[in-house]
Amino acid sequence: MDAEIIAVGSELLTPDRADTNSLLLTAKLNSLGIEVRFKTIVGDDLPRLEEALRTALGRSQLILLTGGLGPTEDDVTRNAVSDVLGRPLREDPEIRRRIEERFRGLGREMPPNNLRQSMIPEGAEWFPNPQGTAPGIWLESGAIVIILLPGPPHELEAVFDSACAPRLERLAPPQRIQTRVLKIVGLPESEVDRRIAPLYLPYGNPVTTILSRPGVIEVHLRARTTSKEEGEALLAELGDRIELALGDYVFSTRGESLEEVVGMYVVMKGQTLAVAESCTGGLLSERITGIPGSSNFFLGGVVCYSNELKTRLAGVPSQLIQEHGAVSKQVAQALAEGVRRRSAATIGIGITGIAGPGGGTPEKPVGLVFIALADAQGTQIRQFRFPGDRERVRYWASQMALEMIRRRVRE
Ligand code: AMP
Ligand code: MG
Repeated sequence: MDAEIIAVGSELLTPDRADTNSLLLTAKLNSLGIEVRFKTIVGDDLPRLEEALRTALGRSQLILLTGGLGPTEDDVTRNAVSDVLGRPLREDPEIRRRIEERFRGLGREMPPNNLRQSMIPEGAEWFPNPQGTAPGIWLESGAIVIILLPGPPHELEAVFDSACAPRLERLAPPQRIQTRVLKIVGLPESEVDRRIAPLYLPYGNPVTTILSRPGVIEVHLRARTTSKEEGEALLAELGDRIELALGDYVFSTRGESLEEVVGMYVVMKGQTLAVAESCTGGLLSERITGIPGSSNFFLGGVVCYSNELKTRLAGVPSQLIQEHGAVSKQVAQALAEGVRRRSAATIGIGITGIAGPGGGTPEKPVGLVFIALADAQGTQIRQFRFPGDRERVRYWASQMALEMIRRRVRE
């Protein structure tokens, strides 16, 4: 069974408010084995909403509308459904009683407008809303199911979980949607696709999509089957071939972040870590300490932005800075070795670079970053030129520092 979602609300067409309800609903529908085929966002506008609904009725078996069920004149979802299906709105005495009771319970006068919320299309069923006044509404028109849900996300969730999910589960043919996500670091998207397209193209199921984020490429496999075992087998068959083709650029197949994977390896190898960060300003430490249990391997870090603190906190000779500049291979190395020595960690990381937007020169452009890793085997230094704005350059730098650690400790 396939679904279509119509999110109603003029605010959702402005830059101020995103339609998150459809994401929440999609996750819940997927877990019932129902795929979402179309999504529409439409303002609080009766003719446009009716148009969207007519289109949906022509192509979907299950239509979920969210929002526009409030008590005010601009809430037109129930009117649109009533008009398009030719089902006049009728007051439901039980909904009315509940709304009145809710206001009494809150010790407030009920504005007469709220009675609009007790109106439902003829032949519809409704579900109580434990969190608010607008009930959920369930309607069948021929073989099509239409569900109206309140806009506030916590109300939508409460109504969907308590009333809609159990009914949909009975209605939907047994089907499962299972996913596998492979995360890749160090290869550009085009190269990932060049390597794996011949593998996934022959498969209609699972469906493969490639997503690019700063510092990570994700390959998402989505299988649609009738049993868990069949889904797992399909995901393993294609997933394993893709993993093989990408080799050790794949750092995660079970949803872990790069910092989690790095933490796992560092602990496994009995190593400890300390970092000296200049241009990332603590971002690497922040990401590492975001992992529960990081105290088992992370000794700490210093943010040494000024030249003076590079010398005082990480022991970088001031002469080295004068000779080569703060953003240099030599200073990255001294940061890594200095913080390692002073903290007695087994691995020291040093990061120095130009995050921009200012401060770049022809010899040292914005995005130039040096990262050094010092351990018992010696010191490895890499030079990068990261694309993008300040935020992206800093994120990339933290990402590649983690990647250098991952490659070093998994050897
Ligand atoms: P409504 O039922 O249209 O009166 O919506 C009430 C409130 O729910 C709105 O002011 C929004 O804050 C929120 N809301 C409505 N639709 C959505 C949506 N699609 N995603 C997230 N929040 C929403
Ligand atoms: Mg609204």
